[in-house]
Amino acid sequence: MAKKSDAKSTAPRDTACDATFDVVVAGAGMVGATAACLFAKQGLRVGLLDSKSIADWQAGDARVSAINIASMNIFQALEVWQAMRDNRVSPYRAMRVWEQGSDAAISFDAQALGQPQLGFIIENSVIVSALIEKLRQNYNVSIMEGTSLSQRQIYKDKLVLVTEDNKSLECGLLVGADGAQSKVRELCGIETAGFDYQQDAIVTRVATQRRHQQTAWQSFLPTGAVAMLPLQDGRCSVVWSCDRAGGMDCADRLMDLSDAAFCAALSDLFEQHLGRVLECDERFRFPLRQHHAARYIDKYTALVGDAAHITHPLAGLGANIGLMDVAALAEVVNQARTNRQNIANHSVLRRYERWRKGENEMVLGMMKGFKTVFGHAHEPIKTARHLGLNLADRMPPLKAQFAKYAMGLSGDLPEICKG
Ligand SMILES: Cc1cc2nc3c(=O)[nH]c(=O)nc-3n(C[C@H](O)[C@H](O)[C@H](O)COP(=O)(O)OP(=O)(O)OC[C@H]3O[C@@H](n4cnc5c(N)ncnc54)[C@H](O)[C@@H]3O)c2cc1C
Repeated sequence: MAKKSDAKSTAPRDTACDATFDVVVAGAGMVGATAACLFAKQGLRVGLLDSKSIADWQAGDARVSAINIASMNIFQALEVWQAMRDNRVSPYRAMRVWEQGSDAAISFDAQALGQPQLGFIIENSVIVSALIEKLRQNYNVSIMEGTSLSQRQIYKDKLVLVTEDNKSLECGLLVGADGAQSKVRELCGIETAGFDYQQDAIVTRVATQRRHQQTAWQSFLPTGAVAMLPLQDGRCSVVWSCDRAGGMDCADRLMDLSDAAFCAALSDLFEQHLGRVLECDERFRFPLRQHHAARYIDKYTALVGDAAHITHPLAGLGANIGLMDVAALAEVVNQARTNRQNIANHSVLRRYERWRKGENEMVLGMMKGFKTVFGHAHEPIKTARHLGLNLADRMPPLKAQFAKYAMGLSGDLPEICKG
């Protein structure tokens, strides 16, 4: 904990505040930890709290993320990229996407886009570890583990937060980076609009007969999509998103299969590209839903990352747009400081909301569209889809436009994302 503030309390409680911060970030996942690093880099006093013990949480996350160039630029500016690279970062230089059982396909190559790679596959735990390590070296930062917020009160031009272990924290700005079930969002009374995809993503790691060739492979099926993402140790991370219940390849059934039967099912889908799937690790299951917060801001409070929006992982954009949120928020806060404004003024936070909400709405709409179009088994839609995919593959300018957006090389980017 940070040192106790002076006895003169500004809090509407009997006791003095236990700690005073410029910014409190709730949630120490990829997005929250990045937010804390960005604000600490500006010299602000930062409190970062997470309901779980960070070590336990990291150990339990088997996921990897496809991290785009904009996100890498943020990590580089925060001087955590080298620590990630020293661990397990796998650049991918190509992407092959096809529809199972058809000749409809599209591919992307870094070389054709004049880039050394399209992005990087990194374990979520490697990202969070590097960020937390950086934060632990900063005396402006207090990390509070195993606690959550139970109250948020507005007092003059500040917030007074009460944690579940009954500590009171005073801050100028509260950042809600506490994921899908955000407590900060609940405390602000912010509604979300969304739906359940009725799908689960099954995540595991596999060894394949042939090498992955630093390529991200994705196959679309009527029941979902299977991605094989290249890892540094030569294996692939599998993200198999599929309908929760029903046919032969539904999530319920895939989770119940023996390892050998699961590898055989995966081999059927990827044999022509990666040979047989030889072995797999433990399988984990993540329910897939989409939601978008009605507002990103409330008095002295901003939502970022999954607390504000969740989308289907089929394009690997969820964490990337969350990282872009915090880069934008940090930029407007920094401008406010330069202009000697309160960092959490409504006009400051509203600038953040206007900047990011429209961009994210577009990404969420695109993902919903892809999922709907690829989920249709009706012949006329299938035919149009195949034609569209093959046509797009033969239109390099269109492909380049789409790829550059996904890589974080175009769009309304925060300065730090430009590298
Ligand atoms: C299968 C799958 C694959 C994906 N692949 C990709 C990909 O390739 N690329 C990509 O960009 N995105 C991907 N995503 C999306 C990405 O994982 C998320 O967008 C990202 O993890 C969101 O990060 P976050 O920090 O906002 O939230 P989270 O990762 O959910 O972190 C929230 C943090 O808040 C803490 N917390 C929760 N409640 C509280 C509370 N009440 N108080 C305090 N702390 C709390 C949690 O313990 C956690 O540490 C994928 C998602 C899935 C499901």
